[in-house]
Amino acid sequence: MPTGSPFQIDIPQTDLLTYLFPPAQAVSDKPLWIDADDTQNSLSPKQLLQWVKRLGSGLQELGLQRQDVVMMYSTNHIFVPVAYLGISGAGCIYSGCNPAYGVEETVFQIQDTECKAILVEPPLVPTLLEAASKTNFPQNRIFLFSDKETGTIESIQDWRTILPSTSQAESWKWKILNAEQSRTTVAALNYSSGTTGLPKGVMISHQNVIANVEQSIFMRDLEQPYKPSSRPQERWLGFLPLYHAYGQLWSIVAAARTLSPCYYMRSFNYVRFLENIQNHRITHIQTAPPVIVMLAKRPETEKYDLSSLQNVLCGAAPLSKELQNEVSAKCGLKVVQTWGMTEVTCSSLHVPGGRDDRSGSVGYIDPNATMKLIDDNGKEVGVGDRGEIHVKGPNVCMGYWRNEKATKETFDEEGFLKTGDIAIRDHNGLFWIVDRKKELIKVKGFQVAPAELEALLLEHEHVADAAVCAIQLEHEELPRAYVALKSQHKTASSEWDIEKWVAGRVAKHKQLLGGVVFIDEVPKSPSGKIQRKVLREWAKKDAEKW
Ligand code: AMP
Repeated sequence: MPTGSPFQIDIPQTDLLTYLFPPAQAVSDKPLWIDADDTQNSLSPKQLLQWVKRLGSGLQELGLQRQDVVMMYSTNHIFVPVAYLGISGAGCIYSGCNPAYGVEETVFQIQDTECKAILVEPPLVPTLLEAASKTNFPQNRIFLFSDKETGTIESIQDWRTILPSTSQAESWKWKILNAEQSRTTVAALNYSSGTTGLPKGVMISHQNVIANVEQSIFMRDLEQPYKPSSRPQERWLGFLPLYHAYGQLWSIVAAARTLSPCYYMRSFNYVRFLENIQNHRITHIQTAPPVIVMLAKRPETEKYDLSSLQNVLCGAAPLSKELQNEVSAKCGLKVVQTWGMTEVTCSSLHVPGGRDDRSGSVGYIDPNATMKLIDDNGKEVGVGDRGEIHVKGPNVCMGYWRNEKATKETFDEEGFLKTGDIAIRDHNGLFWIVDRKKELIKVKGFQVAPAELEALLLEHEHVADAAVCAIQLEHEELPRAYVALKSQHKTASSEWDIEKWVAGRVAKHKQLLGGVVFIDEVPKSPSGKIQRKVLREWAKKDAEKW
């Protein structure tokens, strides 16, 4: 029998803008999204709503239709929430592209989303224009997107040029979605390779986002009951990237819903991160294991006053209980874990905020969701046994964008999402992640799809075949390639040549920092599938010698 969440909550069944700005409710004019480097540069919900109406109206004037995709290619800045809510509010779909991506990766996302307009931050214009020319993307549908007015760069206009004035847009109305429309209208397309293959667009509905924000806030506040008067004192730090589900959920939507001021960092830098916590008296952070490792190990940690921190939520990759407890003790707080993936909007398991968990658990099933753990024979396992998490709930995505085959393969016959993560649970309903059965590699919390690197390696003129998997080092996993060279080129390239060649073509987190190893043949099953189990065993042995 699947296990249901011990908790049930009411989830508003509407669209994102109606959820955040219910009719007849006053809209706050206090700064909410604040530039951490320049606190004068901020947006209140009231200002955000004005910009959202202008953008929604501007996109419609441009001729964009409901459910057309608008891609955003930018680092974090305070106008990204305007893009997220303006695009989804106009009935279009927001798709964030990693600003670290190079030309080919950006080409892939432009083509796969079939986006109809692109917002680009000025420093990324050269890469985008190259990608646009390779895809024949019209230049008049590309707009500069920055928190400051920039004029025109290489004939690309500022996004403000397509917006009506604030007074003209005041009467613009978004379409209010009913329950059915909320479940079937895509708000965001976030990229994930899922359990196998290349990255795919995950369709996140308005209802998915609203549900996951309500679930996450409920779990956060479970043991620290909600007191409206205490909320304004919270201060969050927005450093998670806003092209990723984790950043969108907390730093945009949950911040707006709970009216928690969020200080935005354009990109992550550890010393700036510590300075920001100290200077802005940050109370809450949502983070990933690499930051917990830095808090534990980097000498700079001791030099800053982190006493304002009350709540540290950690997810996105495995975190050992030893590290979790080390940081909890060192910083005098309680680090709690969450588990999730892009396909569940953000999270589906949470340890309640403030809980003194020292066991490394990732928590209880979120409200209104159900899980089962399934073994290799497709049978459900009981308490204490390992099984793949299958999950169902209002936060589970609609499927993959224009990819029915992958969608079908990802859901089981009862409509549960197959996650590729292996967990155990105890009698009290707490879960621990113990392994990952899917191909995915997580580097500093970022996804790396082996299939993408394998396809790239096959483009190298000396490579006959290649297989990529994670090598697990003490606190991190890194991509490692096993490569068979063409017989006539056996001595033409060294391992280092191949590593460098890949490094020049992918974002930093996808580089083969776990090394390249030459082999005679890639291990494959009779049907030609890479035997990933064998690769994992090789990598395990190699890690022992590292
Ligand atoms: P993403 O879709 O980028 O959020 O990545 C999701 C994947 O990250 C999951 O399927 C897991 O493999 C991994 N992950 C997320 N949270 C945790 C966690 N708390 N512990 C272990 N792995 C995690």
